[in-house]
Amino acid sequence: MKIQNYINGKFENPINGEFIDNYNPSNGEVYGQIANSTSEDVEKAYEAAAKAFPSWSNTTLEERSKILSKIANLIVEKLDILAEAESKDNGKPISLAKQIDIPRAAENFQFYANAITQFSSEAHESIGLNAINFTLRQPIGVVGCISPWNLPLYLFTWKIAPAIAAGNCVVAKPSEVTPMTAYLLSEILNEAGLPKGVLNIVHGLGTSTGQAIVEHPNIKAISFTGGTKTGAHIARIAAPMFKKLSLELGGKNPNIIFSDCDYDKMLATTIRTSFANQGQICLCGSRIFVEAQIYERFKRDFIKEVKKLKVGHPSKRKTAIGALVSKEHLEKIESFVAIAENEGARILCGGLEVTVPGFENGYYFQPTVIEVTDNSCRVNQEEIFGPIVSIMPFKTDAEALQLANDTKYGLSATLWTNNLNRTMQFSKQLQTGIVWVNTWMLRDLRTPFGGKKASGIGREGGFEALRFFTEPKNICIHYE
Ligand code: NDP
Repeated sequence: MKIQNYINGKFENPINGEFIDNYNPSNGEVYGQIANSTSEDVEKAYEAAAKAFPSWSNTTLEERSKILSKIANLIVEKLDILAEAESKDNGKPISLAKQIDIPRAAENFQFYANAITQFSSEAHESIGLNAINFTLRQPIGVVGCISPWNLPLYLFTWKIAPAIAAGNCVVAKPSEVTPMTAYLLSEILNEAGLPKGVLNIVHGLGTSTGQAIVEHPNIKAISFTGGTKTGAHIARIAAPMFKKLSLELGGKNPNIIFSDCDYDKMLATTIRTSFANQGQICLCGSRIFVEAQIYERFKRDFIKEVKKLKVGHPSKRKTAIGALVSKEHLEKIESFVAIAENEGARILCGGLEVTVPGFENGYYFQPTVIEVTDNSCRVNQEEIFGPIVSIMPFKTDAEALQLANDTKYGLSATLWTNNLNRTMQFSKQLQTGIVWVNTWMLRDLRTPFGGKKASGIGREGGFEALRFFTEPKNICIHYE
C-alpha cells in the first residue's frame, strides 16, 4: 500500500519519488509506505490551495455546509473501514476507533457544517456620530493544519472542518506515524464533491514536510496539535512572519479526588481517565491526587481494577489496552519506569513490556501505577503520554490546589467532589483551560478547547475555531 499526496484533487507521488515505511504497531511489521514529501510538494499544494481560494471563499455558506455534511455522511458510511485502518495504523483497540475516533471525525464535519450557517459578526451604531461600524470576518487565505498520531482522524478533522467551513483553503499534514485515515479521507473528499485544491494533504516527516508548511511565507495561519517542544519550535519560526497560531500542546493533567465524591463513579471513570487509548490522550489525568482519608482504599481498589485491564491485540473484542504507537514511544514509556525507580518511587502495578502471543514484535506495555511522594519528581513533571499514572495523597484543599497547579502545563484538570463551594473555588483557581467536575471527556463541541501555560495558546472548538480561521476587519461608514 502506497500512500500518496492528495494535491488539487488528485493522488500523486512526491516530486522526489521517495517513500518511507509505515509500521503496524500491533505486530511491528511494515505494512505500507508513505510519501516522503519535501518543500517542493508543499509549494505545489500551496499553489493548488491559492488557486482554489477565490472561488471557495465566495461559495455560499449553504453550499459549503452541504459539502461538509456530505463528507460527514460518507465518514459514517465508511465507519468500519476507517475504524479498522485507524486501529491498524495506531494500535488502538478497534472498539475505541469505532465508538470514539471515527464517529467524532464525522461529528467534526457535521458540527461545522451547521456552525458556519450560524456564525455572524457584529455591528455597532456610533450614536451621535452618524456612523455605523460593522465587522467583516473574512477567511485568511491558505492555512496550514498539522496534527499528531494519538487521535489521528479525530484531530486532523477537528482543524480542517472549521478551516474550510470558514472559507479557507488548506495544506494539511497528518503525523507520518498514522497517515492512513487522512489518506482514506482524501478519497471521501472527492466523492463528496469538495472542489479541487480546497484541501490538500501532504504526507511526510514533521521536520521536513511539517516544517515546510510552517516556513511557507504565504501560508498565513498554522493550527497545530502536538508536543510542547515542537510547538515552541513552530512559534519561533512563525513569529517573524507574524503568522496566526493556534497551538494545542502537551499536558500533565491532575485528577483530584476528594472523599465526598461518588466513589464508584469516580473509580470507573478514573480507569478511563488514566488508560483510555493507552493513556495517549492529551486530556488523560496522569497525576492522581487523593484525599488522605480515602487514599489507602483508593489505592487498593484502583490497582485491583487496573490489573483487570486486558492488554492485547487491537482487533480483539476483549482488549482494553492495545499497542503503543511506535517502538520509540514504547522505549520512552519504559524509560520512565526506570526514572521512577531511581527517584525512589514505588511501582504499585505494571511497569513491564507485554508479549502478546502471535504478535511478539508488537509494542505492548502494562498499565502502570506509580506511587510518588514528591510532586517535583520527573514522573510528575514530564509528559509521559502513555499507560502510566502516578498517585499521591493530600490533606487539605489548599495542598491539592497547590499540587495540581505545580506544573508547567495547563491543559485540563479533573475534580471529584460533591461540595459546591469547593467546586467553584477549584474551577476558578485551577490553572488549566478545561476543568472536568465529576466527569471526564464529556465533550460538547461548542465549548472552547485548549490549554494555558506550556499547553498552548488559542482555543479550538465552537465559534472559537471559526474566529481563529477568519480575520476580523472593521468597516466604519459615516452618513449625513
Ligand atoms: P509532535 O509534536 O512530535 O508532532 C505533532 C505533529 O507535528 C506531527 O504531524 C509531526 O509530524 C509534526 N511535526 C514534528 N516536527 C515538526 C516541525 N518541526 N514542524 C512542523 N511540524 C512538525 O507530537 P506527537 O505526534 O508526538 O503527539 C503527541 C503530543 O501531542 C503530546 O505532547 C500530546 O500531549 C500532544 N497533544 C495535544 C493535544 C491538545 O489538544 N492539546 C491533543 C493531542 C495530543 P511527524 O509525526 O510526522 O513527525
